[in-house]
Amino acid sequence: MYAMSHLSGTEVLVVGGGFGGLSAACYLADAGADVHVLEKNEQLGGRASRLEADGFRFDMGPSWYLMPDVFERFFAYFGREPGDYYDLQRLDPHYRIFFKDGDRLDVNGDHDEMRESSRPTNPAPARPSTSIWRPASATTRRR
Ligand SMILES: Cc1cc2nc3c(=O)[nH]c(=O)nc-3n(C[C@H](O)[C@H](O)[C@H](O)COP(=O)(O)OP(=O)(O)OC[C@H]3O[C@@H](n4cnc5c(N)ncnc54)[C@H](O)[C@@H]3O)c2cc1C
Repeated sequence: MYAMSHLSGTEVLVVGGGFGGLSAACYLADAGADVHVLEKNEQLGGRASRLEADGFRFDMGPSWYLMPDVFERFFAYFGREPGDYYDLQRLDPHYRIFFKDGDRLDVNGDHDEMRESSRPTNPAPARPSTSIWRPASATTRRR
């Protein structure tokens, strides 16, 4: 782990309060900088924000907890861990896709089931290969 040079007395403006801007602001502040985060929206989070309407909550961006090691490394830098701030729960299905024609596809961590459920009913569309599904389910596994 590299140490950022001492930035005491330096004023830094971070534009954007998404994951990127917020994490950069944390590292800079830790290095002693006087950090200001400018966010144009009313809430922080950027693409990882949430829309609430009519009693429903919609995730506006990420659904998959990809690259958990990146989050772990970030928190570890500050002597913390993700579990200090949030709990992960494995969802079943992980994800449900609704198609216009009323059909739907449940995405879960079972490779064989995913291959079978996405098998085309007509020969035109290509069948997703194992290599598509494997990374997705692997990355949604709990720590
Ligand atoms: C539909 C969708 C699904 C996704 N699914 C996944 C997923 O499953 N897993 C995953 O890991 N990632 C997923 N991603 C990607 C992930 O959401 C982004 O990579 C991540 O949130 C980007 O963070 P960021 O801080 O780089 O940028 P952003 O989240 O875009 O943050 C940029 C911030 O800057 C602000 N801003 C921009 N211009 C200005 C300005 N001039 N002044 C002030 N503020 C400004 C914006 O309002 C925003 O808050 C998905 C993204 C989308 C859109």
